[in-house]
Amino acid sequence: RGIPRYSTASYAQDLIKPPVSVEYDKLLINGKFVEAASGKTFPTLDPRNGDVIAHVAEGDAEDINRAVAAARKAFDEGPWPKMTAYERCKIILRFADLVEKHNDEIAALETWDNGKPYEQSANIEIPMFVRLFRYYAGWADKIHGLTIQADGPHHVQTLHEPIGVAGQIIPWNFPLLMFAWKVGPALACGNTVVLKTAEQTPLSALLVAKLFHEAGLPDGVLNIVSGFGATAGAALASHMDVDKVAFTGSTETGKTILELAAKSNLKSVTLELGGKSPFIVCEDADVDKAVELAHFALFFNQGQCCCAGSRTFVHEKVYAEFVEKAKARALKRTVGDPFKAGMEQGPQIDEKQFSKILGYIKSGTEHGATLETGGARFGSKGYFIQPTVFSNVQDDMPIAKDEIFGPVQSILKYKDLGEVIKRANNSKYGLAAGVFTKNLDTANTLMRALRVGTVWINCFDTFDATIPFGGYKMSGIGREKGEYSLKNYLQVKAVVTPVINPAWL
Ligand code: NAD
Repeated sequence: RGIPRYSTASYAQDLIKPPVSVEYDKLLINGKFVEAASGKTFPTLDPRNGDVIAHVAEGDAEDINRAVAAARKAFDEGPWPKMTAYERCKIILRFADLVEKHNDEIAALETWDNGKPYEQSANIEIPMFVRLFRYYAGWADKIHGLTIQADGPHHVQTLHEPIGVAGQIIPWNFPLLMFAWKVGPALACGNTVVLKTAEQTPLSALLVAKLFHEAGLPDGVLNIVSGFGATAGAALASHMDVDKVAFTGSTETGKTILELAAKSNLKSVTLELGGKSPFIVCEDADVDKAVELAHFALFFNQGQCCCAGSRTFVHEKVYAEFVEKAKARALKRTVGDPFKAGMEQGPQIDEKQFSKILGYIKSGTEHGATLETGGARFGSKGYFIQPTVFSNVQDDMPIAKDEIFGPVQSILKYKDLGEVIKRANNSKYGLAAGVFTKNLDTANTLMRALRVGTVWINCFDTFDATIPFGGYKMSGIGREKGEYSLKNYLQVKAVVTPVINPAWL
């Protein structure tokens, strides 16, 4: 028990078999798998073909109430915030070891539910998940306050305490990594959690949460509620007993979360939202390398990344060569069954995203951009889309302004640095940017001028656990990962004591 069953245990070179059944399809509340209070379930689908993988318990407001009550009790009475930080550290480390041990099974479940290439799940995302939990386990016993020299005969110290119950709402594009970014720092700081997974990808969180309990996590510390945004998600964001809410997803939903938090108990909010990140190829760039990196920046994870380099700005001197090579690279991209070895691209998450992306492709052509390659469905079933490249894209076209969240590269031409800085910054988003140059002065100028939370210079999507991530402008509030994330999950208490007979008198 504990792991999905497989049709075969061996992962052959050619075709990795998907799992054949799902072990955990209930809500995880107070350490136990339970049905939804309403008894309702919803189907989660295989994006390769639209088939039902499993019917999962559908949590709503009543289940959120149950989960928050369990998390509240585990915080107020339970051992988690009261045990030593080293004890918490050891449980988190044991959990990381268990996930590492079951890497391949977890990866298969993630790919089945999400459609991302198995090799990406197994070789990139789960190792990053493990690394992140080990990183925050290391922080657990290094969280401490200050002693302060106040004006007057007072001894002043600050205590950094957990906030309480954290409500966390995550999207479907990186179900496991978003779990890690949210749960890792929250638990290391001594909080308890109610996590609502995305309705498209409920499965992997249930499996890893089960492993967390095997590692010794006390009941009620981590509760998982599968369900929909308007019901379960909204109930969590507006719950009076939730002290903090952390959300990743669309900017529109982010605004709703902020509103719900404000209208209920003013819980603190962190938001990681959308983006329309520029990737700037400078005139001195090695074009072959720039094409490869720009391709990765956009197409990674089927283009379903909040920070995707979705506006490829190319200097006019290298523009023609870049467009030709970008098209050739997209044509070479391997698309197909994500369980097959060597696949770079699987299906989009669902019918809704699939149709939305095809709608944007149509609008690109209608607005006069040049369709270099792609532009249609790939295959005849599931939600696969051909890697698509547009050139001659103008700033005011919807494909250059909106978050497409799909495998659609938009290439724009620019003349000089001042111009590209203005155009790159001319967006309601400010999540990330890529810069490709050999010139240190250019890099220095751009890294400072771009109004974004991350600038990757001659690299992209570098996501180590230590590196903070978050957005300027409408891309979000706060930072996740690294030391910065601890702030989201800690309160600061000032403690002041009079010093009656100071030693120095
Ligand atoms: P979404 O923002 O609606 O969903 C993300 C999460 O929020 C899910 O768990 C969902 O159930 C929950 N949610 C939705 N409505 C809610 C509400 N009223 N209250 C509380 N929780 C709620 O995103 P989506 O509809 O799945 O995708 C739409 C678009 O959002 C995509 O096309 C893409 O552009 C963007 N997106 C961005 C990210 C990101 O990482 N920034 C992730 C997913 C989607």
